[in-house]
Amino acid sequence: MKTTCIPVDINVDNDEVYSQAVDLLNRGEVVAFPTETVYGLGAVATNDEAVKKIFAAKGRPSDNPLIVHIGSIEEVSTYIEEIPDIALKCMELFWPGPLTIVMKAKKDILAPSVTVGLSTVGLRMPDHAIALKLLQTLKKPVAAPSANKSGKPSPTKAQHVEEDLQGIIPLILDGGSTGIGLESTVLDVTVNPPAILRPGGVTKEMLEELIGEVFQPSLIEQEQKETPKAPGMKYTHYAPNAPVYLIEKDKEIVKSAIKQLHQVGEKVALLAPSQYLDLSADYYFSFGDEGNIEEFGSKLYEDLRACDKTNATIILATTTSTEGVGAAIMNRLEKAAGRKWFTKDYANN
Ligand code: AMP
Ligand code: MG
Repeated sequence: MKTTCIPVDINVDNDEVYSQAVDLLNRGEVVAFPTETVYGLGAVATNDEAVKKIFAAKGRPSDNPLIVHIGSIEEVSTYIEEIPDIALKCMELFWPGPLTIVMKAKKDILAPSVTVGLSTVGLRMPDHAIALKLLQTLKKPVAAPSANKSGKPSPTKAQHVEEDLQGIIPLILDGGSTGIGLESTVLDVTVNPPAILRPGGVTKEMLEELIGEVFQPSLIEQEQKETPKAPGMKYTHYAPNAPVYLIEKDKEIVKSAIKQLHQVGEKVALLAPSQYLDLSADYYFSFGDEGNIEEFGSKLYEDLRACDKTNATIILATTTSTEGVGAAIMNRLEKAAGRKWFTKDYANN
């Protein structure tokens, strides 16, 4: 299959491009498009054959449900039995935006592959001019996970989608770099208190200010049976080819780790704030200024992907605070690292 990648400028009249995308979607094909979080790979959420193509293109495990993207708050009632008041409040304040709300789904409306047999569905209205125009022209719900091969870091540029899905999907709408660079917060409002199944751009602090207590389980708690789970959490995510190790954000510790790794012949890629530039890592990817956590989030996946273009044999990533968006960043870093931490005993392992 030939993959076409078309640049879309939101300030220019691009009706033809949107009709091409809408035609493909209506014909049961998949299309990659930018959102404010990461690039999504979409299919019409009521067409089961089309949705199955998303799983095939990504190599996504078939028991991992998809988020359904919609173009307006009014559409929610088409798919949801009873919309809880707290969900309405969240939609009013945070939509369009990086918040997916998991609610009880009406039966037999969305394709079975979207919900993979769950009685709930996650809905979101993205805050991106191209995504919204596509949804509002199509006038149908679009199921869309991130447009990467399963397990790889999510795409924050059209070029990343091409790297993973070239020859596998027909169309990529290129809207440049995504803004936030981390996937949406997933909030389950079917439990009390509501639970954050995946941290993201809308933080626990922001949610609690609006709706009161919100439960944000740690990764370990998420792996335990008693806590409500996002089924997708059990899979490897965001992983570059070389192993990733977390390391404390302390320059002396990082410096001696690099020295130790060089002694045993490793090639080290360091992902750290700009203040770490002068250390002697073989490759260095800056997370930006230490104080700017949003910039860190927006660059994380690009940096993880860039490691695959080097011959680094190990990747060290410094940690960050877990406040605000930091919770989402640490969640992704811990998963990319498979929760491995660099220790002085590294060479003996
Ligand atoms: P992705 O599509 O890869 O961005 O991941 C979507 C995330 O949302 C995964 O972790 C899913 O498990 C989670 N998710 C989607 N729908 C539901 C649902 N109905 N209930 C719980 N989690 C969901
Ligand atoms: Mg994903």
